[in-house]
Amino acid sequence: MSSVLVVEDESAIAELIAINLRHAGFQVQVVGDAEQAQRAVDQVLPELVLLDWMLPGQSGVQLARRWRTDARTRELPVIMLTARAEEADKITGLDAGADDYLTKPFSTKELLARIRAVLRRKSPEALDAAVEVSGLRLDPATRRVTRRMGEALRDVKVGPTEFRLLHFFMSHPERVHSRAQLLDRVWGDHVFIEERTVDVHVKRLREALTPVACAGLIETVRGAGYRLTQSLDSPVA
Ligand code: CA
Repeated sequence: MSSVLVVEDESAIAELIAINLRHAGFQVQVVGDAEQAQRAVDQVLPELVLLDWMLPGQSGVQLARRWRTDARTRELPVIMLTARAEEADKITGLDAGADDYLTKPFSTKELLARIRAVLRRKSPEALDAAVEVSGLRLDPATRRVTRRMGEALRDVKVGPTEFRLLHFFMSHPERVHSRAQLLDRVWGDHVFIEERTVDVHVKRLREALTPVACAGLIETVRGAGYRLTQSLDSPVA
């Protein structure tokens, strides 16, 4: 389930957004100012943030700018919410690093469409679309991993953590992810879980992929982390 952090000081609006998002299957946390938002993000990175521009204290624009300068939150998807419909404001919001911009009042339908569009672009693993790399296919809806080998479709048995890890790798191919980033994005906890845990699950994932000749998809990048490559050295026809 995708998690959305709603940063909005007007509780009636925040509640309405939360109800609609929960109804659409999102896990929602609501906070009322930038300080609380920062605290929430320090604990667990959400998949997306709906950030109100006008907040008591630090504004949404200032917070978005701060997130963009921090390596951990640089890629965090942010949709700015605002009552200001001026073109110049929209540009300021996008310049601050917002991925999209919604002017109040907006419909739930529009909000959901914008959220899905941003997630599709930045965190495809947060959506239920199937992904395929080098003949290996992962379907979040059925929780199945398969590989076509000649005429046969072979099932790959993976545990729940390895499934999430593989889903994340396949959604961001060719990119190097540090162990800390993987803990943040796959485990949702970068503070209390040891980085060695990542190595343990990568090893299990490679073992699970060995029978279908896909273990080589997961590469170790010395001193940096792990990467999923799209080109297997020994592809199976
Ligand atoms: Ca506000």
